Amino acid sequence: MALFFKGGDQLFAEALDAVGRKDYAAAKRKFLDANEKGCSNKPLALAYAALIDVGSSRRSIGAYQALISKLSGLRESEIKFGLTDITVADLITECELDIKEIQAANMSDSDYQAKGQQLIAVAGEYMSRIGEKALILDEIFKGNTVATGNREALILQAEGYAVIGKGMVSTDPKGAAEYMQMAYSFRRQLGDSGDEEMRLSQNYARSAKCWICGRPANGQGIHFQAVKADIEPVFRKMSDGDVVKPLSDDAGSIYICVPCYTAISNRSDEISREYYEAAMREMRAMEMRLQAEINSVRFSASMRR
Ligand SMILES: [Zn+2]
Repeated sequence: MALFFKGGDQLFAEALDAVGRKDYAAAKRKFLDANEKGCSNKPLALAYAALIDVGSSRRSIGAYQALISKLSGLRESEIKFGLTDITVADLITECELDIKEIQAANMSDSDYQAKGQQLIAVAGEYMSRIGEKALILDEIFKGNTVATGNREALILQAEGYAVIGKGMVSTDPKGAAEYMQMAYSFRRQLGDSGDEEMRLSQNYARSAKCWICGRPANGQGIHFQAVKADIEPVFRKMSDGDVVKPLSDDAGSIYICVPCYTAISNRSDEISREYYEAAMREMRAMEMRLQAEINSVRFSASMRR
């Protein structure tokens, strides 16, 4: 029986074919085999395998670091992957910025100032280091040719300002509204609706007076809630001249500050729980009575047989 061993260069060529078919799992296997079997461009085979790894785990810092190290060892300055022409230095830059982006995104939301500022700083680097050039990895792995450094910068700025806005709202709703407004304008520049950012900005900016205790509060849904109520004109008129009102513009809801709101809902939960437990006790007693009756009916039936 004749055994046919494929040479490294043949495996390398087959791997490139697999890339052309977008069968990246097979391509990676063949690039690694080609390297094992001594293909003539081992560093390139390993770089391609590392590139495929990044494509399958875009959130893995380790995969990006491995790719940077493989790309740095290449003698070529231009390579081709499928239909995409790649300038090696540009791909290294993109990997470095992706790592910074992942690190910023992984920061805790509770450290919102630091996280937001970091996202915005990475945005600045995308603009200055990549700018209008297309993002290579998005083109290869997502078929996305509109992604550019500048576009990524807009996304990161929208995220960065939104992180700060959402974090700030518990202490400074007015300031938070301004940050959400900025996040909104970056979303609009991206061609998104920005509806969510606009809604939050408006809610954060809205001021009210608590109908119950009369305290002022900023930030609807955060520091005060709108609660449906029947408000007759006689009550509506009372706040006619007020700048900050205790009721919604359509007079369908009153505003209640969150301390009053939570006190009322906690108390009403307690009352419901008492009713619920009383009802359950009643039901269990009834169940036992019925069971006793069933038993006695069964007993007399058996005696008659
Ligand atoms: Zn109140």
